[in-house]
Amino acid sequence: MSMVSPGAAPVDLATRLETVRAGVTDAAREAGRDAAEVTTIVVTKFHPVSLIEALYALGVRHVGENRHQEAQSKAAELAELDLTWHFVGQVQGKKARQVRAYADVIHSVDRDSLVAALASGESTIDCFIQVNLTDDAARGGVDPANLPALVDTVLAAPGVHLLGLMAVAPLAEEPRRAFARVRELSVQICSQAPAATALSMGMSQDYAAAVLEGATHLRIGTAITGNRPAFS
Ligand SMILES: *Cc1c(COP(=O)(O)O)cnc(C)c1O
Repeated sequence: MSMVSPGAAPVDLATRLETVRAGVTDAAREAGRDAAEVTTIVVTKFHPVSLIEALYALGVRHVGENRHQEAQSKAAELAELDLTWHFVGQVQGKKARQVRAYADVIHSVDRDSLVAALASGESTIDCFIQVNLTDDAARGGVDPANLPALVDTVLAAPGVHLLGLMAVAPLAEEPRRAFARVRELSVQICSQAPAATALSMGMSQDYAAAVLEGATHLRIGTAITGNRPAFS
Protein backbone atom coordinates (compact mmCIF):
# COMPACT_ATOMS: atom_id res chain seq x y z
CA MET A 1 0.00 0.00 0.00
CA SER A 2 1.57 3.34 -0.88
CA MET A 3 -0.69 5.96 0.59
CA VAL A 4 2.04 8.33 1.68
CA SER A 5 2.27 11.39 -0.49
CA PRO A 6 5.16 13.83 -0.13
CA GLY A 7 4.70 15.95 2.95
CA ALA A 8 1.77 13.92 4.26
CA ALA A 9 1.84 12.18 7.61
CA PRO A 10 2.65 8.48 7.35
CA VAL A 11 -0.28 6.14 7.37
CA ASP A 12 -0.94 5.61 11.03
CA LEU A 13 -2.36 2.90 13.19
CA ALA A 14 -5.88 4.31 13.28
CA THR A 15 -5.95 4.60 9.50
CA ARG A 16 -4.71 1.07 8.94
CA LEU A 17 -7.22 -0.28 11.44
CA GLU A 18 -10.03 1.61 9.71
CA THR A 19 -8.89 0.33 6.33
CA VAL A 20 -9.00 -3.28 7.51
CA ARG A 21 -12.36 -2.79 9.22
CA ALA A 22 -13.75 -1.40 5.98
CA GLY A 23 -12.20 -4.29 4.05
CA VAL A 24 -13.85 -6.81 6.38
CA THR A 25 -17.19 -5.05 6.02
CA ASP A 26 -16.89 -5.06 2.22
CA ALA A 27 -15.95 -8.74 2.09
CA ALA A 28 -18.80 -9.64 4.41
CA ARG A 29 -21.24 -7.74 2.23
CA GLU A 30 -19.92 -9.50 -0.87
CA ALA A 31 -20.37 -12.84 0.91
CA GLY A 32 -23.90 -11.93 2.01
CA ARG A 33 -22.77 -12.13 5.63
CA ASP A 34 -23.11 -9.83 8.61
CA ALA A 35 -19.71 -8.31 9.44
CA ALA A 36 -20.64 -8.66 13.12
CA GLU A 37 -20.18 -12.44 12.73
CA VAL A 38 -16.48 -11.85 12.09
CA THR A 39 -14.05 -11.23 14.96
CA THR A 40 -10.87 -9.45 13.96
CA ILE A 41 -7.95 -10.45 16.16
CA VAL A 42 -5.01 -8.07 15.89
CA VAL A 43 -1.79 -10.11 15.99
CA THR A 44 0.66 -7.97 17.97
CA LYS A 45 3.67 -10.31 18.16
CA PHE A 46 7.07 -8.55 18.30
CA HIS A 47 5.35 -5.21 19.06
CA PRO A 48 5.58 -3.49 22.45
CA VAL A 49 2.71 -3.27 24.92
CA SER A 50 2.38 0.41 24.03
CA LEU A 51 1.04 -0.65 20.63
CA ILE A 52 -1.57 -2.86 22.28
CA GLU A 53 -2.59 0.05 24.50
CA ALA A 54 -2.94 2.25 21.41
CA LEU A 55 -5.08 -0.42 19.74
CA TYR A 56 -7.19 -0.71 22.87
CA ALA A 57 -7.84 3.04 22.78
CA LEU A 58 -9.05 2.53 19.20
CA GLY A 59 -11.56 -0.09 20.34
CA VAL A 60 -9.62 -3.31 19.73
CA ARG A 61 -10.50 -6.02 22.27
CA HIS A 62 -9.04 -9.16 20.66
CA VAL A 63 -5.27 -9.55 20.40
CA GLY A 64 -3.14 -12.46 19.23
CA GLU A 65 0.38 -13.58 20.12
CA ASN A 66 2.47 -16.53 18.96
CA ARG A 67 5.40 -16.78 21.38
CA HIS A 68 4.76 -17.98 24.89
CA GLN A 69 7.12 -15.83 26.95
CA GLU A 70 6.30 -12.66 25.09
CA ALA A 71 2.57 -13.34 25.35
CA GLN A 72 2.80 -14.19 29.04
CA SER A 73 4.57 -10.98 29.98
CA LYS A 74 2.32 -8.78 27.83
CA ALA A 75 -0.83 -10.35 29.26
CA ALA A 76 0.50 -9.81 32.78
CA GLU A 77 1.41 -6.21 32.08
CA LEU A 78 -1.97 -5.44 30.53
CA ALA A 79 -4.08 -7.48 32.96
CA GLU A 80 -6.16 -4.40 33.78
CA LEU A 81 -7.43 -4.08 30.20
CA ASP A 82 -10.54 -5.90 29.06
CA LEU A 83 -8.72 -7.86 26.37
CA THR A 84 -9.29 -11.34 24.99
CA TRP A 85 -5.92 -13.03 24.46
CA HIS A 86 -5.61 -15.43 21.54
CA PHE A 87 -2.59 -17.70 21.36
CA VAL A 88 -1.95 -18.46 17.68
CA GLY A 89 1.53 -20.05 17.73
CA GLN A 90 2.65 -23.61 18.24
CA VAL A 91 2.36 -24.73 21.86
CA GLN A 92 5.05 -26.87 23.49
CA GLY A 93 3.55 -29.59 25.65
CA LYS A 94 5.55 -28.57 28.69
CA LYS A 95 4.34 -24.95 28.37
CA ALA A 96 0.70 -25.82 27.75
CA ARG A 97 -0.52 -25.19 31.28
CA GLN A 98 1.24 -21.85 31.41
CA VAL A 99 -0.29 -20.75 28.11
CA ARG A 100 -3.67 -21.86 29.37
CA ALA A 101 -3.26 -19.62 32.41
CA TYR A 102 -3.29 -16.33 30.47
CA ALA A 103 -4.77 -17.21 27.08
CA ASP A 104 -8.53 -17.06 26.56
CA VAL A 105 -8.39 -18.95 23.28
CA ILE A 106 -5.75 -21.29 21.85
CA HIS A 107 -5.85 -21.54 18.04
CA SER A 108 -3.20 -24.20 17.56
CA VAL A 109 -4.33 -27.47 19.12
CA ASP A 110 -2.88 -30.09 16.80
CA ARG A 111 -2.12 -33.33 18.67
CA ASP A 112 -3.43 -35.67 21.33
CA SER A 113 -0.56 -35.01 23.75
CA LEU A 114 -1.31 -31.29 23.72
CA VAL A 115 -4.99 -31.93 24.42
CA ALA A 116 -3.97 -34.09 27.39
CA ALA A 117 -1.69 -31.33 28.66
CA LEU A 118 -4.49 -28.75 28.36
CA ALA A 119 -7.19 -30.87 30.00
CA SER A 120 -8.40 -29.63 33.35
CA GLY A 121 -11.08 -30.40 35.88
CA GLU A 122 -11.13 -26.84 37.15
CA SER A 123 -11.68 -24.44 34.26
CA THR A 124 -12.43 -24.42 30.55
CA ILE A 125 -10.22 -23.11 27.75
CA ASP A 126 -11.64 -22.33 24.31
CA CYS A 127 -9.66 -23.76 21.44
CA PHE A 128 -9.43 -24.31 17.73
CA ILE A 129 -7.92 -27.37 16.11
CA GLN A 130 -5.27 -26.23 13.65
CA VAL A 131 -5.30 -28.07 10.34
CA ASN A 132 -2.11 -28.34 8.30
CA LEU A 133 -2.86 -27.59 4.65
CA THR A 134 0.69 -28.36 3.52
CA ASP A 135 2.76 -31.55 3.33
CA ASP A 136 5.29 -30.07 5.74
CA ALA A 137 4.63 -31.43 9.23
CA ALA A 138 6.89 -28.74 10.76
CA ARG A 139 4.31 -26.10 9.92
CA GLY A 140 2.06 -27.19 12.74
CA GLY A 141 -1.49 -28.40 12.51
CA VAL A 142 -3.00 -31.84 12.24
CA ASP A 143 -2.99 -33.72 8.96
CA PRO A 144 -6.60 -33.56 7.68
CA ALA A 145 -6.65 -37.38 7.58
CA ASN A 146 -6.21 -37.43 11.36
CA LEU A 147 -8.69 -34.64 12.08
CA PRO A 148 -11.71 -36.78 13.06
CA ALA A 149 -9.66 -38.69 15.66
CA LEU A 150 -8.32 -35.45 17.15
CA VAL A 151 -11.83 -33.99 17.30
CA ASP A 152 -12.88 -37.03 19.34
CA THR A 153 -9.91 -36.54 21.65
CA VAL A 154 -10.81 -32.89 22.26
CA LEU A 155 -14.49 -33.69 22.81
CA ALA A 156 -13.52 -36.27 25.44
CA ALA A 157 -11.10 -33.95 27.27
CA PRO A 158 -12.42 -32.16 30.34
CA GLY A 159 -11.98 -28.39 30.33
CA VAL A 160 -11.16 -28.09 26.62
CA HIS A 161 -13.96 -26.48 24.61
CA LEU A 162 -13.78 -26.84 20.83
CA LEU A 163 -14.79 -23.73 18.89
CA GLY A 164 -13.83 -24.95 15.41
CA LEU A 165 -10.92 -25.15 12.98
CA MET A 166 -7.93 -22.92 12.32
CA ALA A 167 -5.62 -22.86 9.30
CA VAL A 168 -2.98 -20.83 7.54
CA ALA A 169 -3.21 -20.70 3.74
CA PRO A 170 -0.13 -22.32 2.15
CA LEU A 171 2.04 -20.03 0.02
CA ALA A 172 1.74 -22.38 -2.94
CA GLU A 173 -2.05 -22.40 -3.11
CA GLU A 174 -4.60 -19.81 -4.02
CA PRO A 175 -5.90 -18.71 -0.56
CA ARG A 176 -9.56 -18.93 -1.40
CA ARG A 177 -9.16 -22.55 -2.52
CA ALA A 178 -7.25 -23.38 0.65
CA PHE A 179 -9.96 -21.78 2.81
CA ALA A 180 -12.64 -23.67 0.91
CA ARG A 181 -10.86 -26.89 1.92
CA VAL A 182 -11.03 -25.84 5.56
CA ARG A 183 -14.72 -25.09 5.19
CA GLU A 184 -15.28 -28.59 3.78
CA LEU A 185 -13.41 -30.10 6.73
CA SER A 186 -15.60 -28.06 9.04
CA VAL A 187 -18.69 -29.54 7.41
CA GLN A 188 -17.18 -33.03 7.76
CA ILE A 189 -16.70 -32.73 11.52
CA CYS A 190 -20.22 -31.38 11.99
CA SER A 191 -21.65 -34.80 12.85
CA GLN A 192 -19.04 -35.23 15.59
CA ALA A 193 -19.04 -31.67 16.94
CA PRO A 194 -22.16 -29.81 15.76
CA ALA A 195 -21.34 -26.71 17.80
CA ALA A 196 -17.74 -26.38 16.62
CA THR A 197 -18.51 -24.24 13.59
CA ALA A 198 -16.05 -21.38 14.03
CA LEU A 199 -13.31 -20.87 11.45
CA SER A 200 -10.07 -19.07 12.33
CA MET A 201 -8.53 -18.23 8.98
CA GLY A 202 -7.38 -15.17 7.07
CA MET A 203 -4.35 -12.93 7.66
CA SER A 204 -3.21 -9.55 6.31
CA GLN A 205 -2.85 -10.69 2.70
CA ASP A 206 -5.85 -12.99 2.40
CA TYR A 207 -8.51 -11.99 4.89
CA ALA A 208 -11.06 -11.02 2.24
CA ALA A 209 -10.85 -14.49 0.68
CA ALA A 210 -11.25 -15.99 4.16
CA VAL A 211 -14.40 -13.97 4.85
CA LEU A 212 -15.81 -15.16 1.53
CA GLU A 213 -15.22 -18.76 2.66
CA GLY A 214 -16.89 -18.29 6.02
CA ALA A 215 -14.13 -17.19 8.41
CA THR A 216 -15.43 -16.18 11.83
CA HIS A 217 -12.04 -15.19 13.29
CA LEU A 218 -9.42 -13.27 11.31
CA ARG A 219 -5.86 -13.10 12.60
CA ILE A 220 -4.45 -9.88 11.19
CA GLY A 221 -1.00 -8.53 11.96
CA THR A 222 0.96 -6.23 9.67
CA ALA A 223 -1.99 -4.78 7.75
CA ILE A 224 -2.99 -3.15 11.04
CA THR A 225 0.20 -2.92 13.10
CA GLY A 226 2.58 -2.00 10.31
CA ASN A 227 5.80 -3.96 9.88
CA ARG A 228 6.99 -5.96 12.84
CA PRO A 229 10.17 -4.74 14.56
CA ALA A 230 13.19 -6.93 13.82
CA PHE A 231 13.47 -10.18 15.74
CA SER A 232 15.06 -9.51 19.12
C1 LIG B 1 1.77 -13.64 12.57
C2 LIG B 1 0.57 -14.47 12.40
C3 LIG B 1 -0.58 -13.93 11.81
C4 LIG B 1 -0.67 -12.52 11.26
O1 LIG B 1 0.13 -12.41 10.11
P1 LIG B 1 0.09 -11.11 9.17
O2 LIG B 1 0.54 -11.61 7.86
O3 LIG B 1 1.03 -10.13 9.79
O4 LIG B 1 -1.29 -10.62 9.16
C5 LIG B 1 -1.70 -14.75 11.72
N1 LIG B 1 -1.68 -16.03 12.14
C6 LIG B 1 -0.59 -16.58 12.71
C7 LIG B 1 -0.65 -18.00 13.16
C8 LIG B 1 0.58 -15.83 12.84
O5 LIG B 1 1.67 -16.38 13.39
